[in-house]
Amino acid sequence: MRITSYDLYAVPPRWQFLKLETSDGRVGWGEVYTKWHFAGDSEPATRNAVDQLLHQYVLGEDPSRIEYLWQAMYRSSFYRGGPVHMSAIAGIDEALWDLKGKAAGMPVYDLLGGAARDRVRLYQHVRAHSGDDVADPAAAAATEAREHVEAGYTAVKLIPTAGLELIDTPAAVERAREIVGAVRDAVGPDVDVALDFHGRTSKAMARRLAAALEEFQPMFVEEPVTPEHDHALPRIAEATSIPIATGERLYARDEFRPLLEANAVDVVQPDVSSAGGITETKKIADMAETYDVAIAPHCPIGPLALAASLHVDAVAPNALIQEQVVVGDGDAMRYVENDELFEPTDGALELPDGPGIGVEIDADRVRELAGTALGFDRSPGHRADGSVGER
Ligand SMILES: [Mg+2]
Repeated sequence: MRITSYDLYAVPPRWQFLKLETSDGRVGWGEVYTKWHFAGDSEPATRNAVDQLLHQYVLGEDPSRIEYLWQAMYRSSFYRGGPVHMSAIAGIDEALWDLKGKAAGMPVYDLLGGAARDRVRLYQHVRAHSGDDVADPAAAAATEAREHVEAGYTAVKLIPTAGLELIDTPAAVERAREIVGAVRDAVGPDVDVALDFHGRTSKAMARRLAAALEEFQPMFVEEPVTPEHDHALPRIAEATSIPIATGERLYARDEFRPLLEANAVDVVQPDVSSAGGITETKKIADMAETYDVAIAPHCPIGPLALAASLHVDAVAPNALIQEQVVVGDGDAMRYVENDELFEPTDGALELPDGPGIGVEIDADRVRELAGTALGFDRSPGHRADGSVGER
């Protein structure tokens, strides 16, 4: 069996689906992370990377040799790694695993050693309100969190603050405290509330905010600083009992290694579709397990990426919880023929037990919607003095 052709589809809202085809007529699907790499729209960059990698290293090859092809795509680039290269490898890697599972008649997690769990717990997002869009951001967040719990979810996550000054006021801290306190009150002590600082906090404000929010016992605090300042994580971790999470902007094992060695994190959040695919994310999960660190894979994109994540969660004994944005979203499910795969029970998904990644894609629908302009927005965030801050 050889890989003979491919199609890369840009589909709404901002996803890139890759289809690989083989000489014996099999089809494998993967998803390439395409969002905010720079200037918002990174679709042309990832498309170019996928085109080059496939033409140079994958077309004409035996798809069953996933590790060989992964190494060829990675090591043959003298300048390697980073979001574009690793997202392109990721989408190709997922499609190769899909092909391998379909050829074997087994779900990918069985090829990875077999399931370590029966189901995968999910969290739902509570929208971040800046205060400009609703009169009472704390009440709005509390209402939304309660709705998720009523729908069966056992965990929610929210970004408790808009962009901050490098050192901000007591009022800014109090606004975050009101929101998180209202959510904790709304859901009670049996539900987990995770926080995402989204890299909006300087290391000084991360410590101050964590101290103010500690009483609500968050599940974890994500990206208390941007990845450029991960060196500050040990100091932040020392200052709080809130578990520290990060990793959605890291792309390979070597970038996670210093965090693990420094005892700086409790949860790592690789994104399967931007950190080299199932192959690399499984290795990151194994490394993390060695350090008593959990994984909570990042996944703010489409159903193929989510399904690929579920296979890593299935086999990783240290999988804590899975991010997702597509469950219950009819627009997302219009590409999926077996959308029962994404119907949770008590806030958790069953393992996808079909062959390969397990998603039956409606190829006609994908073709029909491909080429639609993708929705991106990444204008600068501003501090009070007009300088550019994080958002
Ligand atoms: Mg995040």
